[in-house]
Amino acid sequence: MRNHTWKLSVFASLLTLGFLAAPVCATDGSPEAQWVEGTLLIAWGTPLSVLDEASPIVASLRQDEGKMVHLELDEGLLAAVGGPMAAAGRLVRALIPVRDPVMGDAPVRPLAITAVGGVPEASETASGSYPYVSIMCQFQGNSSNLVSLSYFQGMYANVWPGLDHYWRRLSYGMVNVVGSSAVGWFTLPHTQAYYEGLISGTNYSIMLNALYNDCTSAASGSVNLSNYEGINLMFNDTFGPYAWGGWGGVTWEPPWGWGNVAVICHEMGHAFGLPHSNNADGDSSPYDNPWDIMSNSWGSAMSDGTYGTVGKHTITYHKDRLGWIPAARKAVVSTAGLYEFNIDHLTFAGTSNLHMVKVMIPGSTRFYTIEVRDRFGYDGNLPGFAVILHEVNSSRQEPAWLVDLVDPSNGGDAGAMWRPGECFEDAPNEISICVESITTEGFTVRVGYGDWGGIFDDGFEAGNLGAWSLVTN
Ligand SMILES: [Zn+2]
Repeated sequence: MRNHTWKLSVFASLLTLGFLAAPVCATDGSPEAQWVEGTLLIAWGTPLSVLDEASPIVASLRQDEGKMVHLELDEGLLAAVGGPMAAAGRLVRALIPVRDPVMGDAPVRPLAITAVGGVPEASETASGSYPYVSIMCQFQGNSSNLVSLSYFQGMYANVWPGLDHYWRRLSYGMVNVVGSSAVGWFTLPHTQAYYEGLISGTNYSIMLNALYNDCTSAASGSVNLSNYEGINLMFNDTFGPYAWGGWGGVTWEPPWGWGNVAVICHEMGHAFGLPHSNNADGDSSPYDNPWDIMSNSWGSAMSDGTYGTVGKHTITYHKDRLGWIPAARKAVVSTAGLYEFNIDHLTFAGTSNLHMVKVMIPGSTRFYTIEVRDRFGYDGNLPGFAVILHEVNSSRQEPAWLVDLVDPSNGGDAGAMWRPGECFEDAPNEISICVESITTEGFTVRVGYGDWGGIFDDGFEAGNLGAWSLVTN
């Protein structure tokens, strides 16, 4: 029943992976680099503030017997193994410099990295029960923020804004977290300062690895991790400026993380394999798309008296990547023509109308997605009821960028919200997307694609600039 093929099983099955001791020799015959093979574990960091923050991402190669090689991967190296979504959990080989023993397990930048075999089949699909366990760990000599066990147990409830309720709503019933529980507090063997001292420049891999090992070890007599699909590690203080999620089912949460369930939602999204999305302002922050829990989880969000900021939905591109948009509820435009679609807002599971239209950009693997969002349910505090567009390039670190032509730094403005009478036009690619009318739960949208032999009647050809917008890529 379950299609996700790697989560906690990663930690057991990796034990069988071999270490390829195949040194690449320099001209003088001394080995200077070697290929290592293992499963690529990726984790994403989330800051407390949302603006003007670069997106930290860490990658580690887990070899046999759990041995970790921490890697410095930039966007180019990630693209070589399919981009961050496809790369997470993938068996890869990396050519790394032979270590000076003094380096210890410091992160290294691979000279090359290649995927072994294809993308794990359906590795991004999420369905069925994902029981999570929260393990609460306190730093040595630190007794702040020791919130009660019932708080952490209640966070998984199937009532708003509990995580079971939340993931069922986001996935249209395909995913739940039934069977989740919480244990703790347990005391870590080291102080907060010790762990923060493991941060290596801008690389957090060593610290995250130590926190994972020490917290799960501390809890080992109280919880059987093999009963769970994911682990939320809840710490009683901060460990650098970020919360983290990834590794196919692990999150690392400071108090401002577990005190705001939206952060747990965001990090669990990473654990499902989702990347960040972005707006189109070109800055380095991927936390500024207000339409996505996987970007700005703080703004335009609901809130709860107990669990703080509440998660919103993720964008249709992400839902589709996790297999939550069935074929009957999406359409792909890739041949010339004029098309009309009825699209319902993403919080609404009900009708047979669409949840996604994908418009391929000719001569590329890029595409636009069309979705509708409304101020309803977990999306109750979004900027408005509108058609929302993203331009998707799956090889970049944040594949989906919000289309917003008026003020790209403000993704909640009218420029991002397409309403009846407005058209988005990508003239070089002969793509037009026009919002026609409001329906019961969404909008009717017309897509003109290529040389389809008609003319628009919305003033576009007449040069009515108020009715359309132009983007060039
Ligand atoms: Zn994140």
